[in-house]
Amino acid sequence: MSNPDCLFCKIIKKELPAEFVYEDEHIVAFKDINPIAPVHILIVPRKHMKDNNDFMEEDEHLAGRIFTLVRKLAEQEGIAEDGYRIFMNTGKHGKQIVPHMHLHLVGGRQL
Ligand code: 5GP
Ligand code: ZN
Repeated sequence: MSNPDCLFCKIIKKELPAEFVYEDEHIVAFKDINPIAPVHILIVPRKHMKDNNDFMEEDEHLAGRIFTLVRKLAEQEGIAEDGYRIFMNTGKHGKQIVPHMHLHLVGGRQL
């Protein structure tokens, strides 16, 4: 479930600080430490999965929860109407830096 060497697992377990905007049993969301726009939130399953290559049928419930959460966070952050971008980097060619699967929610300016 959790990887002791993983940065985001440490944040999820509150061993390292982050500015959380959402938490439930399956998913957390916190502000990106180096935002590329006024709103830059990382949506992170609690379960340690390195990237989308680890995402299995048993994890499918997370996908639905994540997309509903995107809508709620966009409303909460006041970016729903103007729009936003969601993306996930995967692996080396995807330029993923932190190997714990996560979705970026970015908005608040013209991208
Ligand atoms: P990716 O792996 O999707 O390419 O990028 C990882 C993202 O995590 C980057 O946007 C980076 O700024 C963010 N990040 C890296 N380390 C930390 C951290 O310790 N705390 C937070 N809140 N964000 C981080
Ligand atoms: Zn992890």
